[in-house]
Amino acid sequence: MPETHAHGVGRQRAVWSLRRLCQLAVLAVLVFVPWLSRNPHAWAPSRIALGQMPQPTLVPVSGDTWAFELFDFRLVHPLAFVENWLAAKTLYLPMLSAALLPLAMTMLLGRVFCSWLCPVGLFLEWNERLGQWLARRTGWQGRRLASTLPDMRYAFLALCLALAFFFAMPVVSLFDPPHALGRELMYGFTHGEVSRLGVGLLIGIVLLDLVLVRRAWCRLFCPSGGALGLLGRWRVWRIAMTAERCTHCQACDAACPYALMPMSLLDDGRRFDWTTCDNCGRCRDVCPTGALGYRFGGQR
Ligand code: SF4
Ligand code: SF4
Repeated sequence: MPETHAHGVGRQRAVWSLRRLCQLAVLAVLVFVPWLSRNPHAWAPSRIALGQMPQPTLVPVSGDTWAFELFDFRLVHPLAFVENWLAAKTLYLPMLSAALLPLAMTMLLGRVFCSWLCPVGLFLEWNERLGQWLARRTGWQGRRLASTLPDMRYAFLALCLALAFFFAMPVVSLFDPPHALGRELMYGFTHGEVSRLGVGLLIGIVLLDLVLVRRAWCRLFCPSGGALGLLGRWRVWRIAMTAERCTHCQACDAACPYALMPMSLLDDGRRFDWTTCDNCGRCRDVCPTGALGYRFGGQR
């Protein structure tokens, strides 16, 4: 049965709401964990008062998007595992097992961390209107400048991993924006101060967005986004086109935050940059005819 327009819009809205909910939930966790560390008595106060719980296990949840722990359940960013492996020159099996779920998610669903979970991505989406307003007011065409810059994500990633290996220290994590946000929130709540590097990185990312182009950091520099893009290149869940429904209105091309031209899926999708597409579905959300949708398998 053909899908009515209202039904299609309802489905689009539902996916958008779900994505936003996921982003907000991660942001809430990033705030909640430091807050709980600062206020451990908010967790099981009676047991603490009775002295039944030693200090290190007071709070059952810790970490952020780089490494997260809830009771005995652990999740680790795949790149955190790789970096730790290279820096320590030892394969730490518990870390590998904690990285398996995020790794499988990325390989099956693509770089969805960036669009469905990353709180910095959420801030950058909110920042878009300001960028558009500034471009209108000033006439500044930052995207022209951005188009002259090479994609440095993989070179930056390789450099960070090489430094981690030779200096036996974490380097990529310093430049992972959601981890920087989580780290600064933790410092802020527990020590009442923040680091210049973390705050500078976050402010710099927002400014890059304003003076260059939408998602400039994600498109050109982000080592962890680059790594997730490579891992998710052969995803099975992807954005796909039903060519007969497309009216060539180009709304999807304007909506894509990475300027990936989803209309190129009208061909066979071979020219499409699957390492950068993060399955955000914003092209799908704006398509008035339902020509774009998520699909398992299909076009490449
Ligand atoms: S092509 Fe669509 S799903 Fe992929 S990044 Fe662009 S807007 Fe998001
Ligand atoms: S928004 Fe939909 S109808 Fe318009 S060009 Fe893109 S796929 Fe075609």
